[in-house]
Order: sequence, then C-alpha cells, then structure tokens
Amino acid sequence: MTPLLTIDGAGRAFGGVYAVRDVSMTVAEGETRAVIGPNGAGKSTLFNLISGHLAPDHGTIAYAPAGGGPGPSGGRRIDRMPPHVRARLGIAIVFQGARLFRGMTALENVMVGAHARTRHGMLAATLRLPVHRREEAAIRADALDALRRVGLRDWADRSADVLPLGQQRSLQVARALCARPRLLLLDEPASGLRAAEREALAQLVEGLRAEGMTMMLVEHDVAFVARLADRVGVLDLGRLIAEGTPEEVRGDPAVVAAYLGE
Ligand code: ADP
Ligand code: MG
Repeated sequence: MTPLLTIDGAGRAFGGVYAVRDVSMTVAEGETRAVIGPNGAGKSTLFNLISGHLAPDHGTIAYAPAGGGPGPSGGRRIDRMPPHVRARLGIAIVFQGARLFRGMTALENVMVGAHARTRHGMLAATLRLPVHRREEAAIRADALDALRRVGLRDWADRSADVLPLGQQRSLQVARALCARPRLLLLDEPASGLRAAEREALAQLVEGLRAEGMTMMLVEHDVAFVARLADRVGVLDLGRLIAEGTPEEVRGDPAVVAAYLGE
C-alpha cells in the first residue's frame, strides 16, 4: 500500500478550543476514505488543513512520495504550503456548501477550476493577457472533458444558475476534476440532495473510484458510506475516535456513543 497522504498529529484550535486534535491518518493511493462524525466534530477543518485553506497549529501533513516509493516521512511536507501550491500538486477540494459563480455558464464555472494548474493563474485569465489566450483553448477542452465525465456535457453553454441542486454538485466535482487532481476532497457532496440526485452522485463517485482516483469524502448517510468507502475515519470533538472498514466502524461502541451523545 502506497500512502498518498500521511497526517501525523495534526491539530488546529480556534480561540483556544481544538477543532482538530492530534489526528493521525494515512490515506492510500486509490482509496476512497469517508470521514464521518457529528456536527462540529472537525471534519471540514481537517479537510481545510489538507487543502491548505487552514494551517495546522501542530503536526505534519505529507503527500505523494516522490519517485514511487514512500520516503522516510511518507511523502513531502505540504502543511506549510499555500492552497494554490497544493492544488498544483494535485489536491482539489469541493467545500461544504460550495457555491457556483452566478451569471456564468456551466463551462465557465468549470474553466475557473482549470486555472489552478496553469502557470499564470486566475489573474492572467481575468485580465485576458495574451499568454493566457494560448492556454484558453486547452483549458476549454479540459473543461468540456470534465463536464462529460460528470454527465453534464450537454449543459456546457447553459447558465449554471438554473441547474438543479444535484447537477450543481456534479458541476462542482467537474470544476475540481479540471484541476487534474490526484486527491479529491468532497465535503458533504450529497447533503440536501433528493434520492435520485444522491444516486447520481454515488455513481459519479463510483466511476472516479474505478478510474483510480483517491478520494476523501464527508458524508452522513451510512448506506452511502458503506457503498462507497473503502475505509472510514470517525471524528468526535476533533479527535479520531475510530478507523476501519464501514462494517468495523458501524459496530464500534465509541462511534455509537459519539452519535447518541450528540
Ligand atoms: P464539522 O465539519 O465536523 O461539522 P467543523 O470543522 O466545521 O466541523 O468545525 C469544528 C469546530 O471548529 C466547531 O466547533 C466550529 O464551530 C469550529 N470552527 C470551525 N471553523 C472555525 C473558524 N473559522 N473559526 C472559529 N471556529 C471554527
Ligand atoms: Mg463540515
């Protein structure tokens, strides 16, 4: 098992209260890892520590061992890198409750994601610099491909504002895919979706898993987790209180207590 992500003793406090406390976790290449836990358990904070949108107060995060084999630290330290550098290394996040850019088409929304990996980035794109125009065609092609992968190719030129919620979530995933991630973080992608939309999202995640994408996802629905996740990490009050297969975790007394005590 090659670890793609190695979190060691990560902690992050807000106003003296730890949202994530001494969490150590290893995610294997190609694995789908669910992260569950009651509201306020620290799930989103953990994802933000991985993506770089929050800095840890303690601990280390290492990612993607260079040259194939795991290094002594299980990869290269990323915990001091800003989010756009981690994005370029292949870490993509769909934030909890992420919003689309209003007044843009589905295609334009996805193209924004592609700029994460270009040399010149969003500023050049916004200013429409010449160097950017050369990249535009390639990004457009990638964005259309990402839309195809999530089943939204036919929506490319339609306003993202009118998409039903399920397809808005798929569009968020397409935007993340356009950055060509190696590790995809999905924070509550299924929340608020109707049954048919959840099913479509589950199939999308299954398809990515079959392609070998490494994913971490926050999800509350036990059936959804059991179907999609290889392993589950359970957070409660910022601590990782259980880890294992969905079956192992479901029968864990500490997990049952955490949920009943909510
Ligand atoms: P979850 O995603 O599991 O619901 P969060 O990671 O969002 O939990 O939050 C964990 C704890 O950290 C909560 O008590 C929350 O209020 C607190 N918290 C999260 N982000 C911030 C922040 N930016 N500022 C202050 N407190 C925060
Ligand atoms: Mg959250």
